[in-house]
Amino acid sequence: MSRKLASIQKILALESIEGADAIEKATVLGWQLVVKKGEYNIGDLCVYCEIDSLLPERPEFEFMKPRGMRVRTIRLRGQISQGICFQLSILPPDFQIVEDADCTETLEITKYEAPIPASLAGKVKGRFPSFMHKTDETRVQVLQSSLDKYNGQKFYITEKLDGSSCTYYLKDGEFGVCSRNLELLEDDENSLWKVARQLDIEQKLRSLSGNYALQGELIGEGIQSNKYKIKGQDFRIFNVFNIDAYEYLNFTDFVNFTTKLGLKTVPVLSENYVLENNIPTIITLSTIKSTLMKEVWAEGIVLRPLQELKDFGNDNLPGGRVSFKAINPEFLLKYGE
Ligand code: AMP
Ligand code: MN
Repeated sequence: MSRKLASIQKILALESIEGADAIEKATVLGWQLVVKKGEYNIGDLCVYCEIDSLLPERPEFEFMKPRGMRVRTIRLRGQISQGICFQLSILPPDFQIVEDADCTETLEITKYEAPIPASLAGKVKGRFPSFMHKTDETRVQVLQSSLDKYNGQKFYITEKLDGSSCTYYLKDGEFGVCSRNLELLEDDENSLWKVARQLDIEQKLRSLSGNYALQGELIGEGIQSNKYKIKGQDFRIFNVFNIDAYEYLNFTDFVNFTTKLGLKTVPVLSENYVLENNIPTIITLSTIKSTLMKEVWAEGIVLRPLQELKDFGNDNLPGGRVSFKAINPEFLLKYGE
């Protein structure tokens, strides 16, 4: 499933911005962005492009050239703006105008991907194994329907760390190491393998009965400019997956399991958060400093029900798992994302 970077969406609200008369604030999905005043009315459909969209070099996108064609979080007149709206006329004339229709491919929009340093990339052993899931989190801004559904339920919140996704598994006696999308060959130069050896992960997994995967974020030297100023590297777990049962452990089991292995979870910010049906409120919760380093902005937060939930009705949730992220807008502004 690839992310719907550009889609047909409705202008849900328009509000004025203090001290600005040429622009106004629009709400599209759960996103807020700046548009030209008077260009849209509430209820209009538009083509909305999310942050991380990489626009093709076409005349109508020419104005994005100075920004490397990449849609980022910006601040205009004090207003945070995420994404860009275009008139429907940028679509080919035969394109079916239906709310939520995906226009990413039609408009040749791709996702901006940060380059991966060699120490993390490793040597490829093969594809990501199919007996477990890749790590991923959906942005809360596209999950209004899930908030409607799970409003009032008990969630936990962890800090989202800005590192590199890493999966260690033991399956039928075989130990494996995977980056976000691939399985990696053992190699002394690769950070994921080095940390596995440092933390004795293989032996720890072998001490268990059953097949498990530990999924977490690798942080520290050589990774995402080591924002948390950590000596060496560390592995902070956010998922324990029971491969035999093909399911994630619930919060309490996940924490106990990780602790018993002598490993660390990602920072837990709340164990009794009652989900609020309000995207701006959740974005405010994400606008915090890191618990690992109080001088720097946290990347954001990840929210999950205390008891794992599946929602197969929502194709924005990979594997139907109810779990989502809210990215701190100040972090995005600071690091140019
Ligand atoms: P993104 O980094 O924006 O692509 O968001 C998804 C990724 O966040 C996951 O694939 C994980 O590698 C990473 N991540 C970092 N911290 C957490 C956390 N606390 N919970 C879940 N995922 C996390
Ligand atoms: Mn990340």
